[in-house]
Amino acid sequence: MTYKPPNGASGGAPPAGLAALRRANLSLVLRELRDHKSLSRAHIAEATGLHRATVSNLMAELLERRLVREVGVEHVGAVGRPRRAVALHGAHVGALGMEINVDYIAVHGTDLSGRILVERRVAYDAMGSGPDSAVRRLGLVAEEAVEAMRRAGASPAGIVVAVPGLVDVVRGVVTLAPNLYWHDLPLADQLSSLLSPLRVPVRVDNDANLAALAEYTSGVAAGTPYLVYLTGEVGVGGGIILGGELLRGADGFSGEVGHLQVDPNGAQCGCGRIGCWETKVGLAALVRAAMPEQAYGLPGMPVPDPGERVADLARGLASGDRRMTTAVAQVGEWLGLGGSILANLFNPRVIVIGGYFASLAQWLLPHAQDQLQRLVVAAPAAQCRFVASTLGFGAASRGAASMVVSDIIDDPTTIMDSSPRPVPH
Ligand SMILES: [Zn+2]
Repeated sequence: MTYKPPNGASGGAPPAGLAALRRANLSLVLRELRDHKSLSRAHIAEATGLHRATVSNLMAELLERRLVREVGVEHVGAVGRPRRAVALHGAHVGALGMEINVDYIAVHGTDLSGRILVERRVAYDAMGSGPDSAVRRLGLVAEEAVEAMRRAGASPAGIVVAVPGLVDVVRGVVTLAPNLYWHDLPLADQLSSLLSPLRVPVRVDNDANLAALAEYTSGVAAGTPYLVYLTGEVGVGGGIILGGELLRGADGFSGEVGHLQVDPNGAQCGCGRIGCWETKVGLAALVRAAMPEQAYGLPGMPVPDPGERVADLARGLASGDRRMTTAVAQVGEWLGLGGSILANLFNPRVIVIGGYFASLAQWLLPHAQDQLQRLVVAAPAAQCRFVASTLGFGAASRGAASMVVSDIIDDPTTIMDSSPRPVPH
């Protein structure tokens, strides 16, 4: 059926049933447009099962709100008559993704159609700063990003922050982020109150999960339904996509692969346990073995951006530095060993390696792939390949921004009914 708002698009509260129907229909239409570049109204009606008249009405409302735009004509077949096509627009609607990690804060702001408005990474010693300073710094970086997006004409509808640790996404609490020394930190509430003048809702999620979503939607193995993503930071997290869905687990804590114990006689991990996988393959472990004079946590050392450390490593490896090549070969073998555990468990088609793993892939992967092939029990699992991410250190913040976009698409009325109509150009 067709829903026609009684007092124009934003006026009056429709009965609950009609409001839910309108919300669901708007969401259906926007989802189709997100998944395809541009579509005619007839195509949308076909794909969603909605009546043509319903689609036309919804489209009129979305056009008026500038959430979609006309993009010319779509020719169907040799004899089909041309149809006007529409695409996602929403240039005035912003989505801000952020990530805080051990040694940096990253932001990735887009509009509704995914156009990038702000993207940056700042070196920051989150490990040594404590949660209070870190949250304040996050707030400042968020304010700057929101300002930049507003200057570009987009008002952020939400902020999602990626954190390397266990996150209670419902309450917005970081239960445990071992490498940041955070416990039970109500990050969403704290950041919301810091940013209260901006009136932008804040959510928190796990960095690897968000990066896995970014890989699945726009990365090097996009669309691969069985995919594991590994963050290559000081800590190592995993995001697991099974059958095209993110595996969250009973409490949302799945994917903590960095804390698989791989060496009972190994070094102590940030989580307090011994011999976790990330003590073998995390960036801190590689730096300690390859260039100990730059190791993490040395007193008086300024914290460089991880990109700078990795560039130093790449230069050394390219020049054949023996200490570095030995260290990276060892890390590659441990990477393959852990990867084989994941391949035995989840049978993914690809393991996408992000962060520093991707930057050093040409040196790590030959060792990792050999180990993987040797240790996976099922022969066809040899089809499981390590693949270097092309999203680099920005994967989690990109995934965070796309989660804001998904939230809007799930319920577009949150932005349509709470804000005045944009002034047409
Ligand atoms: Zn651990």
